[in-house]
Amino acid sequence: MPAYQGPSIFLKPKKARPVWHGHPWVLLPTIGKVTGEPNDGDVVRICDAKGEVIDYGLWSSKSVLRVRTLGIGPNWPGGWPKASLPDDFWHRRLSDALFHRKSLGLPSRDTNAFRLLNGEGDSTPGLIVDVYDTVVVVHFTTAASYAHRHTILEAVDATLKPQAIWAQTDKRTAAKEGFPVESWTASGSLPEEIDVLERGIRYRVAPRTLQKTGHYVDQRDNRALFGSMANGKRVLDAYSFTGGFALHAARGGATEVVVVDSSAPALAAAAVNAELNGIVDKLTFVQAKAEAYLQDARKRGERFDLISLDPPKLAPNAKAKHRACKKYESLCAEAMHILAPGGWLKVASCSSVIGADDLKEVLAAAAGQLQRRAYVVATTHQPADHPHPAAMPEGLYLSSVLVRVQ
Ligand code: SAH
Repeated sequence: MPAYQGPSIFLKPKKARPVWHGHPWVLLPTIGKVTGEPNDGDVVRICDAKGEVIDYGLWSSKSVLRVRTLGIGPNWPGGWPKASLPDDFWHRRLSDALFHRKSLGLPSRDTNAFRLLNGEGDSTPGLIVDVYDTVVVVHFTTAASYAHRHTILEAVDATLKPQAIWAQTDKRTAAKEGFPVESWTASGSLPEEIDVLERGIRYRVAPRTLQKTGHYVDQRDNRALFGSMANGKRVLDAYSFTGGFALHAARGGATEVVVVDSSAPALAAAAVNAELNGIVDKLTFVQAKAEAYLQDARKRGERFDLISLDPPKLAPNAKAKHRACKKYESLCAEAMHILAPGGWLKVASCSSVIGADDLKEVLAAAAGQLQRRAYVVATTHQPADHPHPAAMPEGLYLSSVLVRVQ
């Protein structure tokens, strides 16, 4: 095998351990030396301070996360003499991920929306691929993956042969990584809307217009659990978006479900979904801030048996954590005010900054405010099609705690 000819980085002494363990991020301040002049998307060899090869990674020239590892260790089969990726790299990653999703039963007869590539969790740093039946949404979140967009999109097309591919970047990562905010139809003809199945519930998804990738596939297991507890219950789905939890609850036998979101388009989509599933008459839609709804409901003396609180990210970084926890506590306390004795409250965090232990603390404190007690019934995270490296606690970004409140 010819000697490696591409750029290398050498980590500073004592900075290599996380990377040795498989943490996929190499932060700029941990790099001691760079040989060669890598550009966005180039392969770089990652060595410790002594020169021992730890892994290979892709270079992002503007990001503080300067290199993200490919998670292959030092031995790429067949050798790796150049600074470019092997031609079949993305193809291999996609086939591998497809094999693993199939092993998880995805897609199945009752579920055809799932995550095929979860970035670092599938050794494809900066690349997210969601499948919505025949439409695929590809999301680039690093300058490196963006630099490879043409090859990636070709590989997605060849591997999945979808009806259409919708490609996108987002404002937050574009600013950090230095690429344009854009979205485009990369192949095929993109339908305005597509109907997908999640555990037998139909959702109409508009990949082009709704938030994120159109439907939060990561709450799939949580919605199913919520639905399984709903029989005979009066249910509140706060921060409903397109009715994810509400629809499962209605199908699970809830007597009534109140669906609250501040966004009119989200509620309109939820109403369409309810109709698609033939469960309109159980649902009441309220456009309001959840905080205000909870307070008003308390004044009216409302009672619910099962409540979901699924707010948007309240803590984007560690600095925001304390305030976010206070906000969670007051939301949970408000929810408990209208929760029947022995009722169930489920609260979720979609930021790794606030994890399950934080949510438990918040729930306990909120219950204490009301001189009630909370008992944990279930602690859940993102589903199995959203893997993360074992060495990367930040990869566990979705946490959810369900409590029974006496
Ligand atoms: N539970 C949803 C996902 C929730 S995403 C599901 O299963 O798909 C967060 C939602 O909160 C978004 O729909 C957003 O419109 C809504 N939102 C943001 N701030 C809000 C507020 N203050 N009150 C109510 N809804 C809010």
